[in-house]
Amino acid sequence: MNRFAIRNAALFTVDPHNRVIANGILIVEDGRIRALGEASDITVPDGYPIIDAEGHALLPGLIDCHSHTSLMRGVTENMQLMDWLPYYQLEHRALTEEYAYHSARLCYLEALKSGTTCVMDMYRFMHRCADAAGEIGLRVNLAPYVADAPGKDFFATRAENRALIHSHHGSQNGRIQVWMGLEHLFYCTADAYAEALQCQRDYGVGIHTHACEQREEDQAVEEHFGRRSIAQLDHYGILGERTLLAHCVWLNDEEIKRLADAGTAIAHCPISNAKLASGVARVPEMLAAGLTVGLGTDGPVCNNSLSLFEEMKFSSLIQKATRLDATVLPAEQMLRMATINGARALGLERDIGSLEVGKRADLLLLDLKTPNMTPAEITPQGGNVLWNLVFAAGSQNVASVWVDGRQLIADGHATQVNEAEVLSQAQAQGLRLFQQCRDIAHLRTRML
Ligand SMILES: [Zn+2]
Repeated sequence: MNRFAIRNAALFTVDPHNRVIANGILIVEDGRIRALGEASDITVPDGYPIIDAEGHALLPGLIDCHSHTSLMRGVTENMQLMDWLPYYQLEHRALTEEYAYHSARLCYLEALKSGTTCVMDMYRFMHRCADAAGEIGLRVNLAPYVADAPGKDFFATRAENRALIHSHHGSQNGRIQVWMGLEHLFYCTADAYAEALQCQRDYGVGIHTHACEQREEDQAVEEHFGRRSIAQLDHYGILGERTLLAHCVWLNDEEIKRLADAGTAIAHCPISNAKLASGVARVPEMLAAGLTVGLGTDGPVCNNSLSLFEEMKFSSLIQKATRLDATVLPAEQMLRMATINGARALGLERDIGSLEVGKRADLLLLDLKTPNMTPAEITPQGGNVLWNLVFAAGSQNVASVWVDGRQLIADGHATQVNEAEVLSQAQAQGLRLFQQCRDIAHLRTRML
């Protein structure tokens, strides 16, 4: 039986009261949190191995609400979104199952080593992504990149998405969830939205898609469909509580209200939005309207990092800088966005996203005895450590990570896979894929 106790850690629970326990104990049994509280209030039953976490903070694992696994890091730079799209499509013209598998192993390893325990991944050949998640132990929501509009036949098909639900939804002890993935309004036909809705009814799965990423894109949508993006998605009937929209940078007040009324969640990807010069999403207005906003990295192609620590910090700073207001998006809010709000966006808030009795033991232990976290003062409100978790901490502080109570990172290193082997395979496969993309680009340029 999988059971153990962690003691002497500062617990940042992110529960409904944002409880912080300076000297806490947390007990895990059968993959779930059995008890937690002040060291003086909790007795560890006999026979439970005890981990002494003095000088560490224990948090719920971080949740990446929008990512695209990839090997194409740092090769499509200095481009606006619309210029960048044809390059990113080269990857998908060249992609094979083998590339998808090695991409997923690499990205899931990076996520885990950065303290992320759950990733919403939109990609292709996702049965192979499930294999990679199984090897590494990560919790993943898989949303295939479905596109069925003419000329987009190199993406995933609706049939593939449906088949993946049958083969993998709820597999690996529930760690694998499969959603309907729809690339974008320009990539998918009306039938694709109808089928996504049907699958939602048939299997209870969520729907994930991109929306309102860039101003020019939104204008093009309006010219083509006669409606702005949110109105068009509403017209297709997919706005609802089990729908997650990535980006939503260019929402007006009416659209924010419409999404809030529908209970639709947003995956906010501030670093990707900045890198591709898309703009700054109106997060304070979204939160004020009651929208669920989680954080997404958007993957290595347009980020180029998978660290939610970077995402938390940047998300807060870009709002402060552009609004000339130092009070917006404080640390407590950012930590909630990276954990419980993300869980809610993925429909998993009953199981993950906070340290609460009965939830799955997806845990992140951070070393505070490092230059970037010293001095550390922990108060019931969190003290300076709360602020430094968001504005100073990073992957270098990740000491241990558990998913379902299984320790996947120990002393900063993966326990389930040989990291050097994952990297050497990704290196070889990545360089091969770069060359293939160059060859395709060359061919296409000559054809023009
Ligand atoms: Zn994306």
